[in-house]
Amino acid sequence: MDILKPDTEIFARPSRLTQRFAILGAIILCVAGYLMMLVDKRTSDADISKWAEANNASLTQAIANSVWPHFSGHLESARSKPVAELRQAPTTQRLFKEIRTLVASLGVLKVKLYETGGMTVFSTQSSQIGANYSKNPRFLKSLNGGFASQLEFREKFGAITGPLTKRWVLSSYIPVVRGRDGKLLGVAEIYRDVTVQRQDAQQNRIIRASIIGIALAVVFVFLVLIVWRSDLRLMAYHHRELNLVKNAADAEAKSLAKSQFLANMSHEMRTPLNGVLGVANILAKSRLDDRQTNLVKTIGKSGHALLALVDDVLDFSKGESDSLNLNLAPTSIVDCVNDVVDLLSYGAKEKDINFTSEITTDEQEVLLADPKRLRQILTNLIGNAIKFTEIGDVKLFVEPKEKSGAKRRVRFAISDTGIGIPRDQQPQIFDSFFQVEGQAARRFGGTGLGLAVTRQLVELMGGEIGFDSVEGKGSTFWVEVEFDITNEQADTATGPQILEMPTASQSSTPRILLAEDNEINRLVAIEALQDLGHKVKFVENGQDAVDAWEQGDYSLILMDIQMPGMDGLEATRIIREKERLKDGQPIHIVAVTANAFESDRENCLAAGMDDYLSKPFDDEQLSALIDRWLPQTTLDGETIVDVETIEETGLNPEVVQPLRVGKPHLWKRLIAIYLNNTPDSLQTLKQALDESDTTAVQLTAHTLKSSSANLGATNLSDMCRQLEAMATSGTLEGGHTLFEGIFSEFKIVSATLERESEGAATAKMSAA
Ligand code: ADP
Repeated sequence: MDILKPDTEIFARPSRLTQRFAILGAIILCVAGYLMMLVDKRTSDADISKWAEANNASLTQAIANSVWPHFSGHLESARSKPVAELRQAPTTQRLFKEIRTLVASLGVLKVKLYETGGMTVFSTQSSQIGANYSKNPRFLKSLNGGFASQLEFREKFGAITGPLTKRWVLSSYIPVVRGRDGKLLGVAEIYRDVTVQRQDAQQNRIIRASIIGIALAVVFVFLVLIVWRSDLRLMAYHHRELNLVKNAADAEAKSLAKSQFLANMSHEMRTPLNGVLGVANILAKSRLDDRQTNLVKTIGKSGHALLALVDDVLDFSKGESDSLNLNLAPTSIVDCVNDVVDLLSYGAKEKDINFTSEITTDEQEVLLADPKRLRQILTNLIGNAIKFTEIGDVKLFVEPKEKSGAKRRVRFAISDTGIGIPRDQQPQIFDSFFQVEGQAARRFGGTGLGLAVTRQLVELMGGEIGFDSVEGKGSTFWVEVEFDITNEQADTATGPQILEMPTASQSSTPRILLAEDNEINRLVAIEALQDLGHKVKFVENGQDAVDAWEQGDYSLILMDIQMPGMDGLEATRIIREKERLKDGQPIHIVAVTANAFESDRENCLAAGMDDYLSKPFDDEQLSALIDRWLPQTTLDGETIVDVETIEETGLNPEVVQPLRVGKPHLWKRLIAIYLNNTPDSLQTLKQALDESDTTAVQLTAHTLKSSSANLGATNLSDMCRQLEAMATSGTLEGGHTLFEGIFSEFKIVSATLERESEGAATAKMSAA
């Protein structure tokens, strides 16, 4: 790409364009100048001729008046006389004298007189007397009453005063007419010396030409300079443009290299991390003493922190190299927000912070959004609010803003009563790796990338982000994003994979085939799958995977991508091709890889895979994936069906079923939280009733009412509503009886819920 090289030499001399303009301009100017001089000369010659001709005419007039009357007889008879005699005739001599007197001092060089037939009857140059001019065109013209003049240069001239050299002479034929009757008597020819006038005129012309020439030259130089300058600018502009193109190409190449480097780096880091976290997980489930348990927990915590860091760095760099992409899907904002709230309320509870959310967006409205990225934004902001708050509240507000056409603007605001951000450091808060100086970073940990990534994501969504903060009082971070409204059904498979419990069903023959070359990763995956109750067969490369698939009867293949010999993509393509030929039922193939880029995901899907799980994954993610691609079946292959009624279970199947099937992980999380919190609430309620504290009864009954309704404990919720209404009206009469009912209903509900989560969540039933 030599053309892109900066070439400073081009600015040193005039460009081709300027050169051409100058040469062409000079030629045009010369020609124009020459033509102007020519016109000027002709004009000035014409002026001289006119002037001389006018003089000649008056002189002819004078000759006609003073000479002709006296010499008319001589002139009339001249034609019939022999020439020699005419030349010598005394009348001719007298005529010569009179004419000389008449024209002396008038600058007249010669006078000739012709009779009407064209014969020269008189000339101050006597040798010309007798010559015939009857054919001379100028003579003929004057016969018709016109003047005919001619300006010419004569090397030699026989003038009245004697011979002359180098003279400019104007000669005019002028008719001599008798005044009385207008009769043409003859023609006079007068030669006048105009050398001086011509020289003067020439000098004037030279002065004029010089002035005009200089003026034109100045204009010309000026124009050339303008052209040169514009041309330089144009060249500089092109130069810059070329450089820009070159820089853009360079930048693109660099950005590509950066993305590639990051892909590799993240792969390299995720693979050993997968091993660390996986082994820690296996260890955690084995028989350990307290100290060992703590050590393993530390490994897990550090590993997850490192993983979060790798993810943040990866996201941030993707944002920097413009390879951060959105995966838009029909999304229920309410569900999406609730998922995050559920996930983070644990952390808030651990710190004893009051975390509440107020969502006023329409639950039915489905918007086109990237739920994963939206959750990431909210998790970062709420996570920070909880992290930087020691006591008090964290509140999340989600409110719909104006709707314009098929678009809905939504505002998310997270306010906390935490340490706040000093005013002088606020401008840098979204910078990468920025953390407020002083205690915060040390005390609270973090990378300083969260807000930078969050801003990148918000901008990618075309939204806005901002905050208000007062040091020592708290902060409010807000995000506003406009989403397209869609009529499609919200995607329910997008929730986070949380709190998955081991499932019981286990078939006798392996239904899962694992293709993974790395021994540690294999160990981790097999352990995790076995914990989930699945039998697994493993192979170490793509070719073996294809062979095993052909010989076995699997429902799911978990396929690593990078394997020695045949890789996972190639193996998938071959399996898909064979399925097509055999017309068989397609098997689910899920990529399990440490390549965390969107393009990797696309490659996997393009090769024919169904889904993608990035390493390192945790038990919950794996379990969610298995749920999605390996539907639960009993040993004889029938799908589990729930047939119990609300009377037996305390739960409304209409509420429970969609959650249990559609969002199994969230369902189990909700159960755990509910079983964990409700006994405390019941105890508070009992105490408030005992103390006749209507406000406390009202508040607690209200909370219990909504949380029970969420789980489908409709009867329980209804009784709580009655108690709440009672307290609101200010009387607690019959409250204790109602409480008994609530308590026994809770026993039924909690028993069902414990069965649902297979005894994993331990309900703390304290004697209320
Ligand atoms: P991290 O939290 O990992 O340090 P972030 O980019 O999320 O990185 O935040 C950058 C810095 O901004 C934090 O280190 C903290 O100093 C400050 N900050 C962010 N959110 C809050 C908040 N809600 N209250 C007080 N300070 C905050």
